[in-house]
Amino acid sequence: MLVVTDLSHVYANGTQALDSVTLSIPAGMFGLLGPNGAGKSTLMRTVATLQTPTAGRIRFDEIDVLKRPEALRRMLGYLPQDFGVYPRVTAYDMLDHMAVLKGLADRTERKETVETLLHQVNLWSVRKKALAGFSGGMRQRFGIAQALIGNPRLLIADEPTAGLDPEERNRFLNLLAEIGDTTVVILSTQIVDDVADLCSRMAVLSEGRILLEGAPQDLAAELRGHAHLGSARCEGSVRARAGRGSWRSAADQVLSPLPGRASRVPIPMMS
Ligand code: ADP
Repeated sequence: MLVVTDLSHVYANGTQALDSVTLSIPAGMFGLLGPNGAGKSTLMRTVATLQTPTAGRIRFDEIDVLKRPEALRRMLGYLPQDFGVYPRVTAYDMLDHMAVLKGLADRTERKETVETLLHQVNLWSVRKKALAGFSGGMRQRFGIAQALIGNPRLLIADEPTAGLDPEERNRFLNLLAEIGDTTVVILSTQIVDDVADLCSRMAVLSEGRILLEGAPQDLAAELRGHAHLGSARCEGSVRARAGRGSWRSAADQVLSPLPGRASRVPIPMMS
């Protein structure tokens, strides 16, 4: 169980990216839904121990994460939003190299790990191809393979479906869903259907604050009842909609891009 308590972060330029975020995240898939600029990456990077928050506490099972970041890192798999450059190295060699960096010194054990992961993410047939030639979906699946080295108990994927076409997106999400019930998997996204279909729990983050938290199916009513979500841009529509699937419409209203903020275009809803 990951427990984040009163987590706040103010960047050096004065931007308050997180404002007293409190969340309890059990094993299974957890969706963190929010528009561009909501604070999702800041929260993910902070939990992944890549940056230190201005205030707050983070616990993962028995570990005080801010006091013992190295203990958390040993059980962490992280797929950052921007996975960086894709060199002209084959998928196999790169994964093998990353396994060495993660401490898998034993050659036989490493070979077994790399081969299993390449099969798991369905990249076995292209293992000898250079990463530079991979499609967006293949890169994200490679990203998950590297994040799974060493069987992490906490897996963080920061907007992994951004830029994927619907087929690649489904394939990627199904892969995440297979990872298992004993791992805490946190998936951040701007796409409502990413969390609606696969996550057992979710939270909506907006302007650094948690607006809602719970099971996707329970949030329909809550979203409709939340008058304070009713800023000028979503008042009325949140409560006015009723019936099956309406929370998605309501959440989309909450998540509609704020004026003046760049935003990715979410994949249209299927329902
Ligand atoms: P999201 O991942 O939901 O798009 P971010 O965590 O990237 O949100 O950003 C939250 C807010 O913090 C935004 O207003 C963003 O401009 C700001 N921000 C992010 N990183 C930095 C930084 N390194 N310095 C200053 N402001 C930042």
